[in-house]
Amino acid sequence: MKIWLGVILVSLFLTSGCTQIGISANNSIDALMDVELGGLQTPSLTATITTTPTITATSTITTTPFLPNTATPTSTPSITPDPDKSQFGPGPVLFPILMYHHVVPYNGSGSQYAVTVDQFSRQMKWLKEQGFQTIKVADMVEAIHEGKLLPNKPVIITFDDGFRDVYDNAYPILEELGYTATMYLIEGVINKNPYVNDENIDDLIDAGWEFGNHSRTHAYLPGLSNLDDEVCASRQRLIERFDLAFDSFAYPFAAKHEGSMQAVKDCGYTSGAGNGSFTIHIEDRLFFFSRREIKSYFDMQRFITTVTDVR
Ligand SMILES: [Zn+2]
Repeated sequence: MKIWLGVILVSLFLTSGCTQIGISANNSIDALMDVELGGLQTPSLTATITTTPTITATSTITTTPFLPNTATPTSTPSITPDPDKSQFGPGPVLFPILMYHHVVPYNGSGSQYAVTVDQFSRQMKWLKEQGFQTIKVADMVEAIHEGKLLPNKPVIITFDDGFRDVYDNAYPILEELGYTATMYLIEGVINKNPYVNDENIDDLIDAGWEFGNHSRTHAYLPGLSNLDDEVCASRQRLIERFDLAFDSFAYPFAAKHEGSMQAVKDCGYTSGAGNGSFTIHIEDRLFFFSRREIKSYFDMQRFITTVTDVR
């Protein structure tokens, strides 16, 4: 009996991964993305037409170089001391937060939660070419509350569950690009296969990665009467074990539930990671902030749309 229950549980876990339970929400995101993709195609055609008139405009500008000599220096230089950074917040901030689970050499099972090394590498290189710089969840929280100078094009890359393949495959790619990420650990499975061990975590800490808690056992929190061990006691153990702030909590299965959110607030976390389609992040959503999941079946265009779509 116990064995069968185990088999069922394991197969449930494998098929559901840890994305949001609630098919309607996922479907609506997909639908929105599809609409966005369709909408993107037409403007690019008209854009080429508008480029021609600008050629005539340049000739008129070159004729007046001497006139504003005294007027120009006063306003511009003092405003932007660092051209690579911009002020974000206080208040709403806009940038993508991406969610991954596995990064594997070959996705044999076809799981939507496992991107290949090749996919991940192309995605990260694209981000780099576009000028994106990685920031931490803590940066977002600070920016929303107090305002913060951040890279002009921030992105937060998150990995749920703390799989060893992320350390083996994603970490070297990110390291080479000068990127860091945020990993949400399941406290009770650290050092167990196929999860990261203490040494891996120490390496990632040294590399500047951020860590959050993803509960003790990856339990479905809405079904629990006592959340303390999953949410709070596990956080305390992580803090003591790694001498690191664990200020963000990722809800297992991205299950949105008032009681869980309250427990996360009560425990002293400063944010809660869920999933959703927003790229605009606000104080009211800090305890279930939106992350967009990058699924294995996304092609590059779908990835680009997922990163750049503003909502
Ligand atoms: Zn998870």
